Amino acid sequence: MTITNAYQGSMLMIVAPSGAGKSSLVNALLQSEPGLTISLSTTTRSPRPGEVDGKDYRFVTPEVFKQERDQGQFLEWAEVHGHFYGTSKTWIEQQMQTGSDVILEIDWQGAQQIRKLIPVVQWIFIFPPSIEALEERLRKRGQDEEATIERRLAAAHIELQHAHEANFIVINDAFDQALADLRHILAASRLRSGPVMARNPVLLKRLGV
Ligand code: GDP
Ligand code: ADP
Ligand code: 5GP
Repeated sequence: MTITNAYQGSMLMIVAPSGAGKSSLVNALLQSEPGLTISLSTTTRSPRPGEVDGKDYRFVTPEVFKQERDQGQFLEWAEVHGHFYGTSKTWIEQQMQTGSDVILEIDWQGAQQIRKLIPVVQWIFIFPPSIEALEERLRKRGQDEEATIERRLAAAHIELQHAHEANFIVINDAFDQALADLRHILAASRLRSGPVMARNPVLLKRLGV
């Protein structure tokens, strides 16, 4: 994978413990930002009620996942809460070639791998306002079995220890404030010197830069 400052777009990774509000925030952000697309992850976990194959995830069997992994189809992959999750390499490469802005909703292990491959990536960590609120949100979402909720809550503590590796932290207490924070991060990311220069070659030439 060859990544340089010539990449015109922005790449954001959203990492948070389960129930912090990643998917809700990312979905709201996508609705108001037409230039932004989300990476469709592949997973071996079962779909939740209402989740659609090809929209929320590509749902595959462990056998298919391992085959694709061994063929090198994933830019990163990780085992999270007992299931495999991975990011498609070709899809990301295509988005970067066209200069699109992309957002990845991945776990901290995947985020560490992506950062090594694509140093210009911006890592955003979402904090819940409290552990109690995290638990309440997981239960209120009502889509996971009790054992799954317990497992995800137990993992939250470990995941939170990786917050210091992120470039940004958004506290998802009042939803609209958290969404506004995400918009500001995207806006700032789009104004980084590398992408601005890559988007404006003619101006650079005229300015003698
Ligand atoms: P959520 O935590 O409630 O959003 O539940 P999900 O089942 O959607 O995601 C489970 C975990 O897998 C989360 O930490 C995600 O960020 C992570 N995840 C999702 N897709 C990917 C991926 O493509 N790669 C990696 N490494 N992690 C992923
Ligand atoms: P994640 O993708 O991080 O697991 P979700 O986006 O599924 O989290 O959110 C978990 C639950 O919390 C959902 O039911 C969602 O509606 C709710 N939620 C998200 N953000 C807030 C917020 N700021 N205040 C209250 N509830 C929230
Ligand atoms: P869930 O099963 O609740 O949808 O996701 C559980 C965790 O897996 C979340 O932390 C989510 O961000 C992470 N996850 C989802 N897709 C990917 C992926 O493609 N790669 C990695 N590394 N993690 C992922």
